[in-house]
Amino acid sequence: MRRLMFGTIAFLLLPLPLSAQQVNADTYDQPCAAQYNKALYPDLGRLAPPEAPAATRSALRAVVVRTLTWKPGELIKVCFRSGTPAARERVAKYASEWMRYANVKLEFGEPGNLRSCKGDNSEAIKVDFVDSGPKSGFWSALGTLSRKDEHSLNLSYLGRDQLPVNREGQSMPEAEARRLILHEFGHALGLLHEHQSPKANCGAEYYEEAVMAYGALRGWPREQTIRNFKQYSEAPELNATEVDRKSIMHYSLPPWLFKQGEKSACYVQTNFEISEADREFMARVYPANGGRPVASAGAPAPVLTRSAAAADPVKEYEALLLKSGLNKTRVDALVAEFKNDLK
Ligand SMILES: [Zn+2]
Repeated sequence: MRRLMFGTIAFLLLPLPLSAQQVNADTYDQPCAAQYNKALYPDLGRLAPPEAPAATRSALRAVVVRTLTWKPGELIKVCFRSGTPAARERVAKYASEWMRYANVKLEFGEPGNLRSCKGDNSEAIKVDFVDSGPKSGFWSALGTLSRKDEHSLNLSYLGRDQLPVNREGQSMPEAEARRLILHEFGHALGLLHEHQSPKANCGAEYYEEAVMAYGALRGWPREQTIRNFKQYSEAPELNATEVDRKSIMHYSLPPWLFKQGEKSACYVQTNFEISEADREFMARVYPANGGRPVASAGAPAPVLTRSAAAADPVKEYEALLLKSGLNKTRVDALVAEFKNDLK
């Protein structure tokens, strides 16, 4: 089977460095499972109830989605739960590339002595390099939800000085490590999977049994496979941009998952760079010079008429619900749920 992560770039055949970690080649073949762990994604369908008018639902979703992104200019403390100094430097170097496009400050601690997590969940993004067990693999909590988790982002096999080596003695290319780090930090800054965009329409392209088999091969429970593949609901606040097949947030999947094989629009080569549309999106969500943040590109006007920085999302959410004519009990229940999500 073709290895996804390594599939498109030439390998250098290197002698096995003594300090490198040798891993089963198949274990690289794990696309990011961004929504691993708790429901790291608010239930927009529930928080924007069907009994509210469509315009209000749209505004409600925008309020909820906006709470997933950091404030423009925000200093986001990143810490490491493990990993050698060189491994941490690698992560910081590549993740920092996002700051060219997003007005946030990913702050990793002192150069040469990058921050270890205190263990009290006081930092915002908490990176680990767990290689086995249920927390292994490549995943990240979405945006500000990172705050909730003591371990919010994982990069298997990248916790050592040397990049991992597969059974054939091939070292993971630096470009691949960079791609994985950029992708996971993209989630940490609030980006969703591009192939799950409602505009990608990949849902209709898959062979369902093949997708399930693909997940099962990775040890994912059925539910997790569905979570990683299913299209996000059609909510304009989530992603109003046209689908971007060049996004660093798009999975590169084997052609046998698609009814049209390599001809499927959802079949893409591995993307190693932050795409033009990724950059534009980041610049819109995290504008420089005190610009007004938006929930996402093309989000509807109602929430954009107010200063997001000044608005209390809970109050805004409650006001929208009350205005839509829902009864007080229902409003209170929903507000409590939203507040709970924000904790
Ligand atoms: Zn991902």
